[in-house]
Amino acid sequence: MSPGQRQEFLKILSLSKERVSAFFGSIEASSKVFACSTEECFVSHGGVTAKGKAYGDSMLLLSPRGLDAVIASHELTHIELHGRVGAFRSWRAMPSWFDEGLAVLVSEDPRYTEDAWLKATDNGCNAPKLENIGEMLGKGDWLLSYGTARREVGAWYLHAGRAGLERLIAEVKNGGDFNSAFNSIASIEGASKSLRSSGTAQKRAVP
Ligand SMILES: [Zn+2]
Repeated sequence: MSPGQRQEFLKILSLSKERVSAFFGSIEASSKVFACSTEECFVSHGGVTAKGKAYGDSMLLLSPRGLDAVIASHELTHIELHGRVGAFRSWRAMPSWFDEGLAVLVSEDPRYTEDAWLKATDNGCNAPKLENIGEMLGKGDWLLSYGTARREVGAWYLHAGRAGLERLIAEVKNGGDFNSAFNSIASIEGASKSLRSSGTAQKRAVP
């Protein structure tokens, strides 16, 4: 990379880290970032067709097509999630649709709009089942796989919030079942949120 390119990329990287940090509250993972200015560099370091790649909880490889804040924050989200859950456990216990859906959500990827998703899925009729998304990732139909994952995680996060995400991470880290944690947290956090917002009315109603 030329010094100018390097300078530019460092700006992008710090913007991406801010985005991830704003979502999680902080960045706990420390990762090595390899940013390639040529395809040869990317391929020789193990890259294939994707724009970037996250390795466990410690390493990030970006192709020359992925030197932007969306791709960098997408991969940094994987690394942060894996770091918080534990790389080995997250590989076994976190379904890839959640991992990818969260990364698309946090990176504010502009390709995945509700309109585009509705068009791609025939108003949701052709949306894949969550458990089938894992095998679809990286094989085209990005809106169906990543888009459906993003939508599911986004809807969950609306109720769960950061507190719910922290609780999900803690439960999976401690060996809890992902699906039962995922399903129970949104309803618990959603209920406590509406309780908090109607707190004054409730107090008045108590005899
Ligand atoms: Zn990803």
